[in-house]
Amino acid sequence: MAKYITKQRRIFLDYLEFHPDEPLTAKQIAEALSSENISVSAVYRNLSDLEAEGKVRRSTRVGNRETYFQYVDADACKACLHLSCKKCGKTFHMCASNAKKITENIKMNESFVVDSQNTVIYGICVGCKK
Ligand SMILES: [Zn+2]
Ligand SMILES: [Zn+2]
Repeated sequence: MAKYITKQRRIFLDYLEFHPDEPLTAKQIAEALSSENISVSAVYRNLSDLEAEGKVRRSTRVGNRETYFQYVDADACKACLHLSCKKCGKTFHMCASNAKKITENIKMNESFVVDSQNTVIYGICVGCKK
């Protein structure tokens, strides 16, 4: 049984690693993994485990009751700051040198060390600004 859960979790993680920064509902993930026999409740269980480990971030959108889960533990995600669009829900990576400038600035001027992996800057993306 334990082995089965491990295998299931591996499949689950592989899927998420393939879709970093993409806000997905538990239902969407369950549908994508339906051929793997992973139930919606298993998806929820895995998501809440990963959330507790800080690997998944939960979000909601204005005017929408769905809860979205986003995988934020991909290697490319660890060093950068994330920009999240409040309208379309897309996440963008701030270029590393820009992110560094901002965090260095905060460190210097506020004596505060930013936890980049857990920091999201919310706003409106260029596609939604029109
Ligand atoms: Zn990222
Ligand atoms: Zn947008």
